[in-house]
Amino acid sequence: MDFQKLADLYEELEHTSSGNKMREILAEFFKKVPEDDIAVISYLTLGQITSDYEGVVLGMAEKSVLKAIGKAAGTDESRVKKTMQELGDAGLTAEKLLQKKPQTLVPVGKLTVKELFEKLHKITDTTGTGSQEEKINILVNLLQKASPKGAKYIIRITLGTLRMGAGDMTVLDALAMAYTGDKKNKEVLEKAYNICPDVGIISETLAKKGLKAIEKIDVHVGRPIKMMLAQRVESLAEVAEKIPGRWGVEAKYDGERMQVHKSKDKISIFSRRMENITAQFPDVVKYLQEHVSGKEYVIEGEILAIDKDGKPLHFQVLMQRKRKTDIEEYVKKVPVQLKLFDLLYYNGKSFLHESYETRTNQLAKMVNVGKHITLADRIMTDDPREVEKFFQKMLKEKQEGIMIKSMDSEYQAGTRGWNWIKWKKEYHTETTDTFDLVIVGAFYGKGKRSGTYGALLCACYNDKDDTFETVTKLGTGLTDEMLEELPKKLKRHLVDHKPARVIISDIKPEVWFEPAVVVEVLAAEITKSPSHALGLALRFPRFIKLREDKKAEQATTSKEIKQMYKDK
Ligand code: AMP
Repeated sequence: MDFQKLADLYEELEHTSSGNKMREILAEFFKKVPEDDIAVISYLTLGQITSDYEGVVLGMAEKSVLKAIGKAAGTDESRVKKTMQELGDAGLTAEKLLQKKPQTLVPVGKLTVKELFEKLHKITDTTGTGSQEEKINILVNLLQKASPKGAKYIIRITLGTLRMGAGDMTVLDALAMAYTGDKKNKEVLEKAYNICPDVGIISETLAKKGLKAIEKIDVHVGRPIKMMLAQRVESLAEVAEKIPGRWGVEAKYDGERMQVHKSKDKISIFSRRMENITAQFPDVVKYLQEHVSGKEYVIEGEILAIDKDGKPLHFQVLMQRKRKTDIEEYVKKVPVQLKLFDLLYYNGKSFLHESYETRTNQLAKMVNVGKHITLADRIMTDDPREVEKFFQKMLKEKQEGIMIKSMDSEYQAGTRGWNWIKWKKEYHTETTDTFDLVIVGAFYGKGKRSGTYGALLCACYNDKDDTFETVTKLGTGLTDEMLEELPKKLKRHLVDHKPARVIISDIKPEVWFEPAVVVEVLAAEITKSPSHALGLALRFPRFIKLREDKKAEQATTSKEIKQMYKDK
C-alpha cells in the first residue's frame, strides 16, 4: 500500500475528537488494507514499528531529525531552526520546508508502507561509528520520496511523537468491525491479545486466517502474557462471598512484578508494562539459572530490594535498579530477592487453564529456595480469622498487605477478576484509598509554581468503552523536584487538542496530554460530581508517586471506582 493513503488517514484521525468516530474511520480503512500490510499498519498507527515488548526504540534525536529535514529540503540549517521555532513541531517543519523540494532522481509519492517500515527498522538497527550520518541519510531518502504531508508523519513516527490518539484496544475494536463486521468480536480478539499482546500478530492472523485461528493463539515462550490482576473488597468479610472454598493467601509485596520466560538457555524478564527488563537484572538471570529447574517455563513473582540479612527494603530502593548504565555497580549496591508466586507454562505445556493449586504445586517443585530466590510467603486456609492473623503478620513484616487467591481458579491473563483479591493496609484504616490515574491535562501554576504546572487533570480508564474519564484535579503532594520533572516527562505527550479517547465534563484543562503517564494518588473520599466525566470525583487527592510500571490502560478503571463508591 502507498504510504500516502496512510498519511491521509492520519490527517483524518488528527481532526477527530470522538473515540467512536476514530474507531469507525480506522475500521473503514482496515477494510481496504491488503492482508500483507495489516500488521505493519497496525504498528504504525500506534506510532510503533514493533510490539512494545520487543523494546525497539526509534532513537533519533531531534537535532539529527532537523538535519535530515534540511538535507531533504535542500535548505540550510538556520532556516530549519527558524521554521522549527516558529511552528514548534518538527513534523510541521518538514511539511512546510518540503513543499518545494530540490530536483532529485527519487520519484515523489512512491513510498510504500512496507518500504517505510523496513527503512525505519534499518534506522534502529544501524549502530557504531558513522551510524548517525547513515540514519540521517536513510531518513532523507524517505522524506524525499514522501509528499510534504507524508513527511510530517514520518518525522513524528521517527521522533516517537505521532500521538494519533489510538491505543491497542482501539485497534482491536476497529479490526473486529473491519474483518468480522461485528464489534462484539473484539472480546475474542482481546482474549487472544491478553495471551499475545501484539497487535501485529493479532491483525495478521485475523486478516489471513480468521477468527477461528485467533481463538487458537496460545502461550509462546519469549512473548509476554498480560498479567492477572486482583480486585479489591471493602471488608475482609466479603472475601468468603466472592471466593467460595479454600484460599491461597500470600503476602502482597511492594516491589515490581516480574514475568520470567525461559526457552532452552535464554532467560527474558518482562515488567508489568511488558517491557523487556532482562538487562537490568543480570543477577536475577543467574539466580534463576541456578535455582529454578525446567527446560522451558514462564513464571511470575515480585522482585524486592533486600538488606544484607535478606529483609525487604522500600520500593524506592528497588527503583535504583531501573537504569541503563552502571548496572553491575548497582547489582552490588542494591541486592534483590525474587518472591515467586505463579507458573504459567512448563516444558511444552500451557498452565493457564490449570488451577492455582496445580500451578503453585508445580512451581514449588521447580524452585530450590535460596537467599535471592524464594517462594512467596503463603498460607492455605478457608478461615477468615487465619487470614486476618496472616495480614497482621505481613504488616509487621512491613509488607503492603495480602493477596487472597482462589485455589481452583485458572490464570486469567490480563483480567482483574474476583479470583484474586487484594487487601492492603490503606483499606484497613478505611479512610483512604490509592488510585492509579492517567494525566490527561494540566493547568499552569501561579506564584511559587509559575513556570510549571500547578495542577493536573487526572482520569481513570473505562475499559469497556476504551476511554479515559476525568475524575480529579490533583495539586497536593507534588514536591519541588516532581514539579520540575513533570513537564519534562509530559512534554513527549503534549497535544494541542483533546485526545479522542479522553472524556471530560465541566473541568477543562489549559493543556492536553495524550494519556500515557500514570500517577498514584491517595484520596480520602469519592463523591458525586458533575464536573468530572465519571460523574464521581476523588476528594482531597494527594500525589504519592509516578507509576512508571503502568501504561495508561493499566490505570484504575471507572468500574472499580464506581463499585467503591457504591460500597461506601
Ligand atoms: P495493584 O497494583 O494494587 O493492582 O496490585 C497488583 C500488584 O501487586 C501486582 O502487579 C504485583 O506487582 C503485586 N504483588 C505483590 N505481591 C503479589 C502476590 N503475592 N501475587 C500477585 N501480585 C502481587
